Amino acid sequence: MLQDDIQHHLDTQWLKNRNMKVKDIYETMEYGPAPESADEAIQFLESHHKKFKLFINGKWVEPSSGEYFESVNPSTKEVLANISEANDTDVNKAVAAAKKALPEWVKIGAHKRARYLYALARQIQKHSRLFAVLESLDNGKPIRETRDIDIPIVVRHFYHHAGWAQLKDTELKDYKEVGVIGQIIPWNFPLMMLSWKIAPAIAMGNTIVLKPAEFTSLTALLFAEICEQIGLPNGVVNIITGHGKVGAALVDHKEVNKIAFTGSTEVGKIIRRATAGTGKKLSLELGGKSPFIVFEDADLDSVVEGIVDAIWFNQGQVCCAGSRLLVQESISGKLYKKIRARMENLRIGNALDKSIDIGAIVAPVQLKVIEDLVQLGIKEGSTLWQPSWKCPTEGYFYPPTMFTDVSPSSIIAQEEIFGPVLVAMSFRTHQEAVKLANNTRYGLACSIWTENINLALDIAPQIKAGTAWINCTNVFDAAAGFGGYRESGFGREGGKEGLMEYLKPRIDDNFSDAPIVIPTEKVASLKSNNIQLPEIDRTSKMYISGKQSRPDGGYSMVINNSKGDYIGEVSKGNRKDIRNAVEAAHANKNWETNTGHAKAQVLYYIAENLAIRKDEFANRIVQMTNQSHADALQEVELSIERIYTYAALADKYDGQVHHTVHKNVTLAMPEAIGVMGIICPDECPLLGFISTVIPAIAMGNNVIVVPSEKLPFSATDFYQILETSDVPAGTVNIVTGNKDELAQVLAKHDDVDAVWYFGGLKGCKDIEFLSADNMKRTWVNYSKYRNWLDKEQGEGHIFLKHATQIKNIWIPYGA
Ligand code: NDP
Repeated sequence: MLQDDIQHHLDTQWLKNRNMKVKDIYETMEYGPAPESADEAIQFLESHHKKFKLFINGKWVEPSSGEYFESVNPSTKEVLANISEANDTDVNKAVAAAKKALPEWVKIGAHKRARYLYALARQIQKHSRLFAVLESLDNGKPIRETRDIDIPIVVRHFYHHAGWAQLKDTELKDYKEVGVIGQIIPWNFPLMMLSWKIAPAIAMGNTIVLKPAEFTSLTALLFAEICEQIGLPNGVVNIITGHGKVGAALVDHKEVNKIAFTGSTEVGKIIRRATAGTGKKLSLELGGKSPFIVFEDADLDSVVEGIVDAIWFNQGQVCCAGSRLLVQESISGKLYKKIRARMENLRIGNALDKSIDIGAIVAPVQLKVIEDLVQLGIKEGSTLWQPSWKCPTEGYFYPPTMFTDVSPSSIIAQEEIFGPVLVAMSFRTHQEAVKLANNTRYGLACSIWTENINLALDIAPQIKAGTAWINCTNVFDAAAGFGGYRESGFGREGGKEGLMEYLKPRIDDNFSDAPIVIPTEKVASLKSNNIQLPEIDRTSKMYISGKQSRPDGGYSMVINNSKGDYIGEVSKGNRKDIRNAVEAAHANKNWETNTGHAKAQVLYYIAENLAIRKDEFANRIVQMTNQSHADALQEVELSIERIYTYAALADKYDGQVHHTVHKNVTLAMPEAIGVMGIICPDECPLLGFISTVIPAIAMGNNVIVVPSEKLPFSATDFYQILETSDVPAGTVNIVTGNKDELAQVLAKHDDVDAVWYFGGLKGCKDIEFLSADNMKRTWVNYSKYRNWLDKEQGEGHIFLKHATQIKNIWIPYGA
C-alpha cells in the first residue's frame, strides 16, 4: 500500500518537474515519501499465524477464555493480528509461575541476573529495527521516533539495569527483592514502558507478570520471544494480554506483592483504593498537564523546536507533554507567529514514512477524546489554530493544534487532552509564571526556557513537578528518575530512586506483630511513687500556628495511665482544628526554603532544650506508662540522640548528579513533600513522637501531628520546647483527640500532601483508601511494629526518603 503511494508520488513529481528550472525545483520541491519496509515485522506476525497466545512460565499458552481481540494499525486501520484475551484463570497461572520462579531467581545471585539483563539488552539492540517497525505499525508513532528514541531508550534501560543487577549485593545490600510484581502499562510508549518496568524489577531479583495495553501488545510479545531466545528462566517474565479487567485481576491478586502502573490518573486512583490496606507496594505514574514556560529572553527559535518536541512528539500522547505553553506577554505575539509557521510545515502521515513528523492517533476512541476536548475549547471561547493542510483520511489522524486566549481555569487548560493540542497562556511577572504553572492538580514535569541561568534555577525549585527540563524537554534516561508530584502519582522510574520501588529494607523482616511492651514498675502507681509529678488538673491545649489553642468543639478527653488512674485531660480536636492546622502549615512558607544548616541549627536547639528538661519529660513518661524512671530517662536520652541524628542529616541527606547520556547535568534533588499529617505510634510516647516528627521537619515539611491518643502528654508538653527553640509558627502543629477520626480527616484533606500512620491494619487501610482523592503520599505500618528504642528500626534514611520526593532537574552542560 505504502509502496504504491510512493510510485504514484514519484510519477507525479517527475511530470511536474519536467518543465521546471532547477531553481524552481529547489524552491517547490516537496519531501517524497521515504517508506520503511514492514517485511520483517509482517514475518514476525506470520510466524505466530497472526494470532498471539499468552506467555506464561516460558511457554506460549492458549487463553483460557479461547477469546481473541484485534490489534489494528492506526495509520491504515488494517488488522495486524489477533491477541489473546486473558481471564482470571490466566492471571492465576501467570502469578503462580512468577511465584514459583522467584526463589531460584533470587538464589542465582546478582552476577547471573546481570548476565541475563545484558543478554536482553544485546538481543533487543540486535533486533532494534524490527522492534521499531513493529511499534510504529502497532501504535501509529513515526518510525523516526521509534527508531531514534523509543528503542534506544529501551536498550539503554536494559544495559543500565544490567549494571544495577551486578551491583545489587554491594551497593544495595541492606535491601531485598519485593517478590512477585504486577505491572500494567499504557499504549503511548509500549516497549519503553515495558523496559522501565521490567528491567529494574528483574535486576533486583523480582519476578513479574506484565499486562500491556490492549491497543499495543505486539512489541511486548516480541519481547517475550527474546526472553525465550536468551533462555531466561521460566516464569521470571510472564506477559498476559487483554483489557482493563485483566489489569484489575492482577491488582486484586493476593500473591502479588507490588503493583507498578502507568496510565490515567482515574485508573491510578482505582488501583490506590483497591490495594489500600493490603500491604502491596505501589508505584503510580499518572497523567500530567505540564507547563512549558518561556521567558522573554529565551532563544525563540530553539523554543519553537522545543515546543515541537514537547507537544507534537508522539502526537502529544505523552504523559509529560508540555501541553500548557506559558509565555511572557512581551513576546507572546512573536512566538505564536513562529509556532504557527512551524506548524504549517509539520508533516503528518503513515508511521512508517521516515519523513513525517506526526503519525496517527492510537485508536478511534482516543481520537474522539481529542476531538471532543477541542470542541469544548472552542465553546469555552479560546481561539483555535490549525495548519491549512488536511490530514490523511485512511487512518486516525489529528492535526497539530494550538489554542490561544485560553483562560487558566478552562477545561482545556486543566484536563489532560493526550493529543497534539497546545494551549497557550501569557504571564507578565516571574511570580505569575510560577502561579500559573502550579495551577493544576498534576505535577509530572515542567520545561523552563530562558538564557538566564539564574532565572531558570530560581524557577525550577518553585514548580511542583517531578522533572524540570531547562532549555530542553522530553529527555529521558535510565540513569535519571522520572515520576510525579501531586496527582501525577508517586514513585520513580529510572535512576537509583527507581530501584527503590523494587526493593524493601531487610530490616522490615524484624518488625513484630505487636507493639513493643516496656515493663511497668510493679509498685508504681500515682499514690505510691515518689516522683514529683506535673500538675494533674491541667487540660492540655492544642498547638496551632505557634500558639496554644483551645479545641473548636470545646471538648476534652480524660487520659488515664496504664493502671487506670486519672492523670489529666487533653483537648478533643475535630475537623475544624485540623483545618486550622493545615492552614497554619501552608501559611508558613519559609521553613522549606531554609538551608539544611539552618534547619539543623533549630533541631540542635530543640535537643538542647529537651536535654535541660529531661527529668521532667521522664517523669511524664513514668506518669503515663508506669515504667521505671530509668527506662523513661533512657527514652528521653534516645529522643535527644535521635534529634541529633536528624540535625546531622539535615544538610547531608542530599541528592545526586546522574550520569545521563545527554549533554546535561541531571540533578536529583530531594525536596520536601509539603504539608504532612503524622499519626504517631501509641508506644513510646516521647520517642514515637520525635522519631516521626523530627525527620519530617528536618526535610523542610510542615506537619500536623496527632500524638498517641492514649499517651498524649509528652507531645503536649513539647510545645514549650518548640516555643523556645526558634521553630517557626506553623512548622509543627499538634492536634490531640481521637486518633482514627483525626487521621481520616487528614487523609481526606485536599491540601495535605502526605500522611504517615502508625497503628492498626484498619487505620492503615482507611488512610490509603481515603488518600486516593488527591493522590497523597502515604506511609503506613500495616500493623507491623517497629521497636522505637532500636536505632536500626527507629531511625534512618528510610524516614527521610518518605519525607521527600525527588525532582530531577536537567541542565544543559557541555552542550
Ligand atoms: P488507562 O489508564 O485506562 O490504561 C492504562 C493501562 O491500565 C492499560 O493497560 C489498561 O488496560 C489498564 N487498565 C484499565 N483499567 C484498569 C483497571 N481498572 N485496573 C487495572 N488496569 C486497568 O488509560 P487509557 O489507555 O484508557 O487512556 C485513557 C486516558 O488516560 C488517555 O486519554 C490519557 O489521558 C491517559 N493516559 C495517560 C498515560 C500516562 O502515561 N500518563 C498513558 C495512557 C493514557 P487496557 O488498555 O487494556 O484497557
